[in-house]
Amino acid sequence: MQILSGLTLKEIEEITDKLHASKFRARQIHNWIYLKSAAKIDEMTDLSVKFREELKKNALVSNVKIKTKQESFDGTIKYLIEFPDGGCAETVLMRFDNRANLTACVSSQIGCAVNCSFCATGRLGFVRNLTYKEIIEQVLTIQRDTGLKITNVVFMGQGEPLLNLENVLKAMEIFNENFQIGVRRLTVSTSGIIPQINKLAELKMQSTLAVSLHAPNHEIRKTIMGIENQYNMNDLKTALKNYTAETGRRITVEYLLIKDLNDTLDCAKQLADYIHDIKCNVNLIPYNPVAGSLYQKSSNNSVMRFKSILEQSGKKVTVRLERGADIDAACGQLGGRNNTA
Ligand code: SAH
Ligand code: SF4
Repeated sequence: MQILSGLTLKEIEEITDKLHASKFRARQIHNWIYLKSAAKIDEMTDLSVKFREELKKNALVSNVKIKTKQESFDGTIKYLIEFPDGGCAETVLMRFDNRANLTACVSSQIGCAVNCSFCATGRLGFVRNLTYKEIIEQVLTIQRDTGLKITNVVFMGQGEPLLNLENVLKAMEIFNENFQIGVRRLTVSTSGIIPQINKLAELKMQSTLAVSLHAPNHEIRKTIMGIENQYNMNDLKTALKNYTAETGRRITVEYLLIKDLNDTLDCAKQLADYIHDIKCNVNLIPYNPVAGSLYQKSSNNSVMRFKSILEQSGKKVTVRLERGADIDAACGQLGGRNNTA
């Protein structure tokens, strides 16, 4: 049985060729999968009943299952998707009342090896990489379940996308070509894997690169992100500047605000200094509490003070809206609790 989800138009044409159908049929199937979110071959009503019967003997739309689905009061939906081998991926649909965007936050790995101290995913450890098909199935599952068309994809679910780069790049290509999502509506977030950032620079990636900096200096960063011992902030800066030089793209610097740890006035000034010659916007992320963690969220006042210092230094700063905290779907809360249930 062929699984249609994840196939390119060319691959679908191979199936229609085998069934002695025209290339136009392949195009129709392709549209049903990626743009019209069909869950079953029988929903593809512009194909004749006879052809659908033939196709059903050879192919299946998808072989993943929604294991759990949780909805937040704010409209956020978190899915736990199960693949045929029993592996599960968490994926989140985010919508914002004032925006037409429908954003899927996808996982690139099951668990994560980077093990940042503030992140629920890190605690799981690394389980395995997701294949590009498993990455795009996450978006297809949301589309099939809600009937909505995803307009933006962020790689901010479980995992470090740059440690699974080949699958992430292939998935991005399919998001762009098959789902018709513009490259600039795709965002890859990384904890700062320098060799892979250099690779993206070489490839002249046009999607948005977001970098989880989270600290204004080496000392603080290494207490919360072990990766700092391997790829430090000085070298990271060189890589980010090279990335911008090669791609022309502005970077998003993500900065998690944890009470009294990295949210002081002094931290804001040091951060402003560190980023002054990096072409970037800053996205401040109020820390989302993770069960059993000693960290606390910064107060609103600290967040605003931090923001205004960075703004004074000439950067555009946004504060990330918290979504889905009541269902553990917010940033950093994808700990796969239901994964082991
Ligand atoms: N591994 C990648 C992408 C996944 S995490 C990365 O680290 O960038 C997506 C974002 O959520 C990152 O910026 C991450 O640092 C942030 N995050 C992790 N734990 C968080 C928490 N408890 N509260 C808020 N944001 C968190
Ligand atoms: Fe991995 Fe990102 Fe979580 Fe760090 S923040 S443990 S890199 S998923």
